Amino acid sequence: MPLDRRAFIRGSALTLGGALSLRRLPRAGAAQPTIWDRRSLQRLRIWDLHGHLTGVGGTAAERIRWILRYARRLGIERVVFFMGLRFRRNPAPREFRRDNDDLMRALEAAGEHALGFVYLNPNYPEESLQELDRCVRNGPLVGVKLWVAARATAAGVLAIVRRAAELRVPVYQHTWYKTTGNLPGESTPEDAARLAAACPGAKIIAGHTGGQWELGIRAIRRRGNLWAGLGGSDPTAGMVEMAVRELGAARVLYGSDCPGRSFASQLAKVLGAEIAPVEKRLILGANLRRLLTAALAAKGIPVQP
Ligand SMILES: [Zn+2]
Repeated sequence: MPLDRRAFIRGSALTLGGALSLRRLPRAGAAQPTIWDRRSLQRLRIWDLHGHLTGVGGTAAERIRWILRYARRLGIERVVFFMGLRFRRNPAPREFRRDNDDLMRALEAAGEHALGFVYLNPNYPEESLQELDRCVRNGPLVGVKLWVAARATAAGVLAIVRRAAELRVPVYQHTWYKTTGNLPGESTPEDAARLAAACPGAKIIAGHTGGQWELGIRAIRRRGNLWAGLGGSDPTAGMVEMAVRELGAARVLYGSDCPGRSFASQLAKVLGAEIAPVEKRLILGANLRRLLTAALAAKGIPVQP
């Protein structure tokens, strides 16, 4: 389709970095800012589902402070972190305990700007359940992260997810449809859907919306206890629109996968989507706050919805 004149002028202004002149151009039917400064972003009350302590140097405390400095620049109110100072695909119990200790040390340094999920390995079900109790029931963490050690359909996962449901915390399950083939323990969105069906009381987030989001959204849409986590894939036009259309805005969660991905590129998925302002607010923060309400209340952390 040929570009109309106004779109062309606006595009050129962007290319030239003419942010100020862009503001003065007429915008047909636009009810939302074209330029999001920190203040307008702060008003959205953004909570980021997905952050890591890798990719930057220093102690756990130094790393989280450094990352949160950038989050604040983008007006992000809170970031949920998981895993330790390095990525371990199939950690032994002493390794995931150390990772969770590093995470909790970082959270202490971050104060109210960060939250954390416990990292577990379903190949060690007993030790994982003990760790879940140590860090979530008796500790400060408010959710569970499962990565690529075992698929969501593997033995050992269900007990963890059931326990998470009892503790009323969500489970973030990494999912991807890789063109080159998944890792042996890497879940697809379909695996997450099976897990969600097997444990209807659990609240499960299908990470990365499956990477290939057109397939991922279809795979999870029938399960009301599955959410799409938007973080950590390239910002592609149409992704958020399709997720909202097929799942409803209430089941879509913004996350960045920082610092491996930039806050700006991941926020842009939502801010640039052709959806209603109220839907953006849900996706950027309100949905995650609702998912975490019980966990935060149990820990005496007051939160405005
Ligand atoms: Zn990640």
